[in-house]
This record gives sequence, structure tokens and C-alpha cells, in this order.
Amino acid sequence: MTDPNVTTTGDTELQGDTVDGSALMGAAGAVTTPQDADAALDPGIEDPILTIENLSLWYGDTIALKEISMGIPARQITAFIGPSGCGKSTLLRCINRLNDLIDSVRITGDIRFEDGSIYDPAVDINLLRKRIGMVFQKSNPFPKSIYENIAYGLRIQGVNRKSVLDDAVEKSLRNAALWDEVKDRLSDTALGLSGGQQQRLCIARAIAVEPDVVLFDEPCSALDPIATAKIEELMQGLKSQYTQIIVTHNMQQASRVSDLTAFLYLGELVEYGATDQLFIKPRKQQTEDYITGRFG
Ligand code: ADP
Ligand code: MG
Repeated sequence: MTDPNVTTTGDTELQGDTVDGSALMGAAGAVTTPQDADAALDPGIEDPILTIENLSLWYGDTIALKEISMGIPARQITAFIGPSGCGKSTLLRCINRLNDLIDSVRITGDIRFEDGSIYDPAVDINLLRKRIGMVFQKSNPFPKSIYENIAYGLRIQGVNRKSVLDDAVEKSLRNAALWDEVKDRLSDTALGLSGGQQQRLCIARAIAVEPDVVLFDEPCSALDPIATAKIEELMQGLKSQYTQIIVTHNMQQASRVSDLTAFLYLGELVEYGATDQLFIKPRKQQTEDYITGRFG
């Protein structure tokens, strides 16, 4: 698995666990059947908008993602959880090809978005990133006005009509639950906003270009609980329109905000399922140990 020249098949240690007697003791001492163990990786998503297929990633000679396969449902919130360094951000960044910017990265496997591979050489990367937007841990507004932060992505696409931009700015700020707080100071610098407001501005900027998918990498880790609650509420409000994926090391956040949760450990997908089920009755001992705070 660590040889970067070898692409392994789908027969991983995870499947091996299911036939190893010692691994059959599941949560709360219940016996995990092989069917449970298969179910531990397959929440049965119909018609996923994104399909990750046997995805492995190396930074130089070091493997960071091992044969990850999962479908992401449209217009739901999927959380990636796991201890620091397990590959959550790496996996998220694969989805809009941000890892392409790192020279030492090598990827095998595929990610399918609707009907095509995002790694198809014919893919227009700017268009891909318009359709799959991203919000980062540290809010990163441009040193421009609030208005121009939101209008930016549209201007790049050649939209310059003031009425169109005005409408898009208002709509995006309303959807990001920020309009009422900033409507009277749209021409002020975005850098004067509070941390929580800046993060909502970044969400407004991401949705202004009407993406299909929004990726969030620990969007609340620099925010206080009130600002965090606002972001979580806002994500719920966006659900009917957007597919959202959130990386969080905060398990309470994952359980509050997400419909599905994927638990990663050391670059492997250990368990993936409905959030309620995964937190209340995990199928794998490793998941149980992590969510009950026994490691990580
Ligand atoms: P997480 O988001 O779960 O904390 P990451 O995806 O950031 O984990 O990292 C997964 C592994 O890949 C870690 O061992 C990390 O050190 C390594 N890694 C992340 N980014 C890079 C990089 N740019 N170059 C080399 N190694 C990296
Ligand atoms: Mg990370």
C-alpha cells in the first residue's frame, strides 16, 4: 500500500476485518456480522452527485488516503470526521482538485461528478471550482469592500451589469444570513467585519456564483459558539439548494449539522453512514472508540 507505484485493488484491511474473529466484536459488545461490516461503508446512497472511487493519494512517498470509495448525496450535508492528520482536508481538497497545486501529490482512483471524471484532462478547472466552491478554516475575505467580495466571482465570469451584480450580492448575503448586518455598509472594507461575519461573507462569496457543491474545511474552528451556531443554522438553510460537505474535528458539530458522517482514520474510510446511526450505534469498534473519546 505504501509503494507509490502500485495501485492496489479494493481488497483492503477493512474487508479483512470482517472475517477476522477478533474484529467481530462490535460496539457495546454486540457481535458485528459481515453484513454489518459491509454496511459500515455503504449507507446506500441512490444517485450520488459525487462518487469517490478507490481514491488513494500520496504526498511524495507518504500515503495519505487509502482506497477511499464513497458516494456523496445531493442536497444533504455530509461530514468528514476523524483525528487530526487522518486525511480529512486532503480528501476534501481532492473534490475540487486543490491538491493539484502541490507538486509532490500523486493520486490514483477517481472522483466522478455527475457524469464525468473531475480528473479528465478535458475538465476546465476554473469551471470545476465554480461548480464546487470552498470555504476554509480561516476566513479569507479579499481586502476589498463587502460588495466587491461578493461580486468578484461574477465579475471574473464577465458579469458587469450593475443591476445583475446588485441582485446577486443581495441574494447571496441574504442566503448567508448576513444581509441585515451589512446592508447599510456594503462599500465598507470586509476586513472590518467580525470573525463570524467574515466567515459568513466567505460563504456568501462561495454561493454567489451558484455552485452545486460547497466544501467547508473546519469553517467554525476559529469562531465562538454564537458565531458557530449561526454558521450551522445557515448551512441548514442552504440545504435545499446545495450539496455540502464539512470537515470537522468537532463531533458535536458533525452530529448537529450533518445527515451523513464519514469517519476516517490514518487515511482510511473506517465507517460511513447516517449521522444518527453512526453516533448512536456505530458498526465498527474503531468508530465507537473514537466517538466515545477513547482515542484521538
Ligand atoms: P486532517 O485534515 O485530517 O487533519 P490532512 O489531510 O491535513 O489531515 O493531512 C493528512 C496527512 O497528510 C497528514 O499526515 C499530513 O501531515 C499530510 N499532509 C497534509 N498536507 C500535506 C502537504 N502539503 N505535504 C505533505 N504532507 C501533507
Ligand atoms: Mg484538516
